[in-house]
Amino acid sequence: MEPLAFTFRGFNKELVEQLVEKIAKALQGYELKSFLVGCTFEDYLSEEAKRMLRKEFQAFLVKKLEEKLGIKADYSNADAEILVNFNQDLVFFLIKSVYIYGRYRKYARGLPQTKYYCFKCKGKGCNYCNYKGVLSNESVEEIIAKYALPLFEAPEAKFHGAGREDKDVRMLGPGREFVLEIIEPKKRSINLKELERMINENEKTKIEVFDLKYCNKDKIKELKSKKSDKVYLALIECENKVSEDTLKKILGKYEVIQRTPKRVLSRRADIERKKRAEIIEAKQKDSLIEMKIRAESGLYIKEFISGDNGRTKPSVSELLGTKCECKELDVVDIID
Ligand SMILES: [Zn+2]
Repeated sequence: MEPLAFTFRGFNKELVEQLVEKIAKALQGYELKSFLVGCTFEDYLSEEAKRMLRKEFQAFLVKKLEEKLGIKADYSNADAEILVNFNQDLVFFLIKSVYIYGRYRKYARGLPQTKYYCFKCKGKGCNYCNYKGVLSNESVEEIIAKYALPLFEAPEAKFHGAGREDKDVRMLGPGREFVLEIIEPKKRSINLKELERMINENEKTKIEVFDLKYCNKDKIKELKSKKSDKVYLALIECENKVSEDTLKKILGKYEVIQRTPKRVLSRRADIERKKRAEIIEAKQKDSLIEMKIRAESGLYIKEFISGDNGRTKPSVSELLGTKCECKELDVVDIID
């Protein structure tokens, strides 16, 4: 929200009422259950004068705002912060975000989880990105936001996922947890069942969302710290033919030593990690091999299959004695 300019000198009831009118007008259309007021008084005033103003002026302003807005001041849980700055003659507004928890399944390959900003302009818009600021056409984040933003009458949203899958990987099974943060919403209590229905009806070939519910900000930290094992179903192409017998022999648990994959080295530090993996099932499927693999959080599964030129050991390539490549990958379960 844009800050509101005012000119206000001296403690005068009439002036306070004028300020209250202005603030109420600026907040018109925002669904709020509570607010708080913070005042910054002129720097040249003594501490004593500021203390008096806080006691008298600020308390009176709060009382008048409660009457005008029809809601209560709440300093522990305010939907809006109203910050009156007498040094700048501006009122700043901070509308609290609304947080929605949910899970998504992703059925379309080639769909990234979040939008990626243009690396040349960092989202500002330039020649390279056609002045869109983003390089992705569509993402799980953008699809959900497309339906949520008009309902909440909000300008933007931020997506926080409990991890992510590559854009060519489908997310099936129990779905992936996420929190959608709605920034500066005008509406705060829309029917989430309705949002769920709209997304699932219109986007069913791409994604599905479910379990939507309101949550608080702490949920983001909780999701980010989760380290869940994942079960993948992979379609693998092998250079040489592999017998059913050989496939049976490689079932079992492995301790994998993995250096950061070559394909992500430009973005991630080159470190070595030790992760668990278990090949649960392996069978021929047409000319390919279908393999079910359980992997510890943080294992790069495509590289566990290919071996990444010896950077991941052991790998499916090494175990089968022939060069293997992952052609298709689905997350089929997330184990908390
Ligand atoms: Zn750009």
